[in-house]
Amino acid sequence: MIPIVDLKRQYKQTGAEIEKAVVDVLRSGSYILGPNTKALEQEFAQYLGTKHAIGLNSGTDALHLALRALDIGKGDEVITVAFTFVATTESIEIVGATPVFVDIDPDTFNMDVTQIESKITPKTKAIMPVHLYGQPANMEVIMDIAKRYNLYVIEDCCQAIGAEFKGKKVGSFGDIGCYSFFPTKNLGGMGDGGMAVTNSDYLKDRMTALRNHGGAVRYHHDEIGVNSRLDEIQSAILRVKMNYIDEWNKMRREVAHRYTELFKGYEDVQTPKELDDTYCVYHQYTIKVPNRDEVQKMLQENGVGAMLYYPIPLHMQKVHAHLGYKMGDLPKTEYDTQHVMSLPMFAELTFEEQKEIVQKVKDAIEKCKASASC
Ligand SMILES: *Cc1c(COP(=O)(O)O)cnc(C)c1O
Repeated sequence: MIPIVDLKRQYKQTGAEIEKAVVDVLRSGSYILGPNTKALEQEFAQYLGTKHAIGLNSGTDALHLALRALDIGKGDEVITVAFTFVATTESIEIVGATPVFVDIDPDTFNMDVTQIESKITPKTKAIMPVHLYGQPANMEVIMDIAKRYNLYVIEDCCQAIGAEFKGKKVGSFGDIGCYSFFPTKNLGGMGDGGMAVTNSDYLKDRMTALRNHGGAVRYHHDEIGVNSRLDEIQSAILRVKMNYIDEWNKMRREVAHRYTELFKGYEDVQTPKELDDTYCVYHQYTIKVPNRDEVQKMLQENGVGAMLYYPIPLHMQKVHAHLGYKMGDLPKTEYDTQHVMSLPMFAELTFEEQKEIVQKVKDAIEKCKASASC
């Protein structure tokens, strides 16, 4: 089986360094908000080109505490997409605000920026773009609209560490950028973890307080916060991996470009497009295929870990039923949820494996075309 991601191969490269870093933490006696988290926050902010970074428990917490820090809550609307992982919209609902969906641009899988203005109401407080699959959303247009309508921008960068739009890293455009260190992300820990970045001293102080029970000074609580601290073991592991992230992203891009080359001329597969002036970091390599569900099933049976991100659009999820959307409201999102399929993607994937995967994808599509059951 060629899995969608193989973290064991990465561990072969980094394992010795990571084990040493972890043992150092174990021996140090400092396990929460110690020197490693502090150093990681500095290194992360420097990498992103932002003033601050705040270590948190998860990407989901980064998103929801970002909304809290901006005082977005009940009665407020946040414009976002339905073609993403549920954590994006979950965070909006956690604070009591209402997600408002725009459709996607099918070329990039990201927010169709031409629809944003038509969704702005007096209740709109923020735009929350998602840089899906590591592909940057159009931050130029989004920031321009946000400025004109006086809206906040929270970037969901959970799949896009290191991605760039016009030479600037995503996450550094908006008020707050949110990252996840879930193990399978491009920069993954060995457990849960997350980070928020910002250029604002005020927002940094708010999120720093919110992650630690709502107080800047120990045992002085100014508001209801949460326990969302990044621990020292994760921080130490992530500091090791930070040294490799650019190299790994570059290798992912090479893997992606090899896939695209291998599918060239085969019209039943639509390969992902890269826009000019963007640096896509390919958290996923996602194609569109006919008879998607059958093709994926055949691939799974045939040793290729093809996955569906995401098979049900968020406006059709039970959790958001109260928002009152129906099928047909977001046609491009709905089309893509029925046609996308992500192929194995990780830096260490070999050309030989890719040739096998591509051949099996083509075989599955042809077999499906020839059979009446598809
Ligand atoms: C992974 C992910 C999240 C959530 O991150 P966690 O660390 O798992 O909480 C949010 N948004 C997107 C787009 C993601 O891919």
